[in-house]
Amino acid sequence: MNFSATSDFAQQLDAQDTLRDSRQQFYFPQQEGSDVIYLCGNSLGLQPKGVEKALLHELEHWRKYGVEGHFEGELPWMYYHRFLQAQSASIVGGKTEEVVVMNTLTTNLHLLMVSFYRPTKTRYKIIMEAGAFPSDQYAVESQVRYHGLDPEAAIIEVTPRTGETLLRTEDILETITQHGDSTALVLFGGVNYFTGQYYDLEAITVAGHEAGVYVGFDLAHAAGNVELRLHDWQVDFAVWCSYKYLNSGPGGPGGIFVHEQYANRPDLPRFAGWWGHDEKSRFLMRKGFKPMQGAAGWQLSNAQIFSFAAHKVSLDLFAEVGLTTLRQKSERLTGYMEFLLNQLDPDNKLFQILTPSDPKQRGCQLSIYAWKDGKQLFDFLSKKGAIVDWREDNLLGNGGGIIRVAPVPLYNSFSDVYTFVELLKQAVNTER
Ligand SMILES: *Cc1c(COP(=O)(O)O)cnc(C)c1O
Repeated sequence: MNFSATSDFAQQLDAQDTLRDSRQQFYFPQQEGSDVIYLCGNSLGLQPKGVEKALLHELEHWRKYGVEGHFEGELPWMYYHRFLQAQSASIVGGKTEEVVVMNTLTTNLHLLMVSFYRPTKTRYKIIMEAGAFPSDQYAVESQVRYHGLDPEAAIIEVTPRTGETLLRTEDILETITQHGDSTALVLFGGVNYFTGQYYDLEAITVAGHEAGVYVGFDLAHAAGNVELRLHDWQVDFAVWCSYKYLNSGPGGPGGIFVHEQYANRPDLPRFAGWWGHDEKSRFLMRKGFKPMQGAAGWQLSNAQIFSFAAHKVSLDLFAEVGLTTLRQKSERLTGYMEFLLNQLDPDNKLFQILTPSDPKQRGCQLSIYAWKDGKQLFDFLSKKGAIVDWREDNLLGNGGGIIRVAPVPLYNSFSDVYTFVELLKQAVNTER
């Protein structure tokens, strides 16, 4: 499609957008009486309007039933994880049984590494992307140490080539082949939080399996952002959080996927808790752990009802719209932003987009590297009502850094994108 850099054109795209009304389901922070340009859904999704009612419902349930709330009503607490299961499974392309919502992301990463990182004398390495989200780095490093190994020797990071910022798939696969015999686990992000690069998860999985290695993914920036097919891709396990693109609210619950090949194997080592124990005999309170079938067998504790209830609201919205439709809009929305940014700075004199320009290699986020005075640009944007994300990266020593923007198809409009780039234009003109 041929884009045009006018507000009329942006409004025309909005008029044609079949998802334009889903924006009404969300609260936008206000600045001087109007909605901010919210482009931070990669960090914390907006509040769906239905959340308040869902939370009040659970408060009332508790007030009315006390402990009996576990068994009363349409959504009894005892089975609450089930009410999120099918919809979470369709977000990541898993079977219902392969998925469960529980705990939070980093906790889940540790729990699944207990099951899938089982180093031996000869196979002990973990292959991951350089510059992974810090929590993942710490989780991996501490797991390696926990097994009495040296992180320097056991963690193999795939780095971009000199002068490049993105990973090449061929380099990832080559690293897996090269270290395959001594590797126990390949653990990658789905979409890198910093560059916005969406890795080829299927190819990574195939390469890992050819080397006889487990393959797991952290989908924090992929879940609800790109279309995933974890089951078909034969991914062994995955974890994600729900407060970014899945709009469950601050500290919202995490989700896990365990491929059915492993999900029904009670012999697979794990750290267990009573909520992962077979539902039928859970309340007999006997010795001897017998895991539930599927990913549910990794649960530790009873569900955090309030955060699960908030999470369910947004999952219902996703189910209504469908990821395929969302992704179609997303590619166009982000493509439009990329087009406008390139119009503003065709020769990359002011900034450069680090994120791949191939839509298949990114989700909705664009990471914009401002060569200088990035913080001033960011401050200007904030003052004018655009909420974006800023990371200092002062490599050149003149205040450069990354502005990350994520136009989210569920609630952002083409006009949002247009207004943002107009503000950025004002910002660079003011700063120069
Ligand atoms: C957001 C994010 C996290 C955050 O972990 P929590 O345990 O939910 O606080 C971890 N890893 C990645 C890749 C993330 O993007």
